[in-house]
Amino acid sequence: MTKQEFIDSIAAAAKKYASSYGIKVISPIIAQAILESAWGASSKAKYHNYFGLKYRANRVTCNNGYFEDGGSEQSADGTYTNLPSATAWYAFDSLDLGVKGYFEFINIANYANLKGVTDAKVYLKNIKADGYATSLKYVDNVYAVIIANNLFQYDESNEEKEESELSNSSLVSFTKISPNKSSPRNHAIDTITIHCVVGQCNVETLGNVFASATRQASSNYGVGPDGRVGMYVEEKDRSWCSSSSSNDNRAITIEVASDTTSPYAVTDAALAGLIKLCADICKRNGISKLVWSTDKNQRINHLNGCNMTVHRDYANKSCPGEYLYGKHAYIAAEVNKLLGVGTSTETNDSTNGALYRVQCGAFFQKSNADAMLAKVKTAGFDTYLVQVGCLYKVQTGAYSIKANAEAQLNKLKAKGFDAFITTKTGIAATVTKKSVAEIAKEVIAGKWGNGDARKQKLQAAGYNYSEVQSKINELFS
Ligand SMILES: [Zn+2]
Repeated sequence: MTKQEFIDSIAAAAKKYASSYGIKVISPIIAQAILESAWGASSKAKYHNYFGLKYRANRVTCNNGYFEDGGSEQSADGTYTNLPSATAWYAFDSLDLGVKGYFEFINIANYANLKGVTDAKVYLKNIKADGYATSLKYVDNVYAVIIANNLFQYDESNEEKEESELSNSSLVSFTKISPNKSSPRNHAIDTITIHCVVGQCNVETLGNVFASATRQASSNYGVGPDGRVGMYVEEKDRSWCSSSSSNDNRAITIEVASDTTSPYAVTDAALAGLIKLCADICKRNGISKLVWSTDKNQRINHLNGCNMTVHRDYANKSCPGEYLYGKHAYIAAEVNKLLGVGTSTETNDSTNGALYRVQCGAFFQKSNADAMLAKVKTAGFDTYLVQVGCLYKVQTGAYSIKANAEAQLNKLKAKGFDAFITTKTGIAATVTKKSVAEIAKEVIAGKWGNGDARKQKLQAAGYNYSEVQSKINELFS
C-alpha cells in the first residue's frame, strides 16, 4: 500500500462511520492512524489495529479477540515506560473494522467532548485531555502530520451536508411532512416519547394519515412493522402527538406500528428499529443516556434524569399500550448500550476527566442565544456559546470538580438565571467568525443596523468596530 492509498483507505472508512458516532472531523483520525501505525507498517497494524487500541473487555464489539504485544508509554515527567510484552491489544479482521473499532472505542462518556467538534486541533486537544494518548507532544505531533499530508481536504466536502443531516435522523427512509405541527419548537430536545399507532401500518400509510390537516395529529417519526423509519415533523419543529404542548415542545415523538388490541404489541423488527432511532436521536441531540421511570411523577417532572415520557401521562389513554410500556426499561438499556454508557462505571467524578459546565439555556435561534449570552455577561459571568447540532448553548465554566460547578450554578441561580450542570459541550460557536471584509460588506448591506446599535451588535459578536469601520471606508474610497 502506498502512503496515498493508506490515507485514502483510512479516510473512506472513517467517513463511513464518523457521523453515526457524532464525529465531524476526519483529518485528526487519519493522522492518528498514520502516526500510531507508522503508515500501516507497525506490528499492531498486522491485526488492523492502526490506533494502538489497548484491549478492554466489553468496550469494542467489532473486533476479533485480541493479540499480545509490547509498547511504550510516556509519563508526565517525560520518561518512557515499556509495556509488558503480554499487553493485550484489539485485533480486527479488516482495515474497515479496525477503523470502526476506533469509533466504538471512543464512544463512551469519557470521550463525549469529541462529538460535534469540527476543528482538528480542538479534537486532538480534547482526545489528549480525555486520556487517549500518553505522549506529551501528542497534539503537536499529530497536528504536524495533518499539515504535512494536507489532510484538511478530507474534512471540508461533507461539512455542510452533515450540518443539515444533524437536525434529522439519517435512518429515515420515507419523508412526508405533516401540516400538523408548530414551528419551531420552543424548547431544547431532551426527552423521547414513544407511542403506539394502534395499527400495523407502514411508514408510508402513517405519513398519509398525518398529511390530513383535519386530523390535527402528527409525530416526529414513525416506525413501521418492518423497522423502517418515516419522518413527518422535522426535529426542529414540535409535533402534535402527546396531548401536551410542553411535552411535545421538548420531546421527539415516535409512533410505532402496533396491534389494534391490547397489549398493542409491536413486531421485533419495529422494536429493533425504534431502539436504533432512539440512539441516533440521543447522539445528535446531546442526550448522554436514556433514563426511564415507572413513576409518573418522575417522568412528567423529569426527576432523577428521567427523560422518557408516555402519552398516558397527559391524557386518559392506554398509549403506548402495555407491551411498549413494559419494554421501556429494556429500550433505555439497549439505547444506552449503543451510546456506550450501559452499566459501565465510566462516570466516576475525578478519574474520567469529564468537565462540568454550567448551562443557561439552549436556543435554535442564534440571536436568542446571543441575547442570553449578553445578559449572563452583563451579570458578571465569563460565558461562551457552543453549538451542538442545531442548538446554540450558553455555557459558563468548565470544571473538573463537580462542587465547583455547583458553586457556579448557585451564583447564576442567585442572579435569577435558570441554569443546570452538564458535561456536554459542542463546537465553540465563535469559530464561525467572519473576516472583517465580509462583515464590512454585511454592514453596507444593512444587516447590522445603524449607529450605536450597530456598534454594540458588532462588539457583542466579537468584532473590532473601528476595524470594520475603516474597512467600510476603504471599500467606499
Ligand atoms: Zn400516543
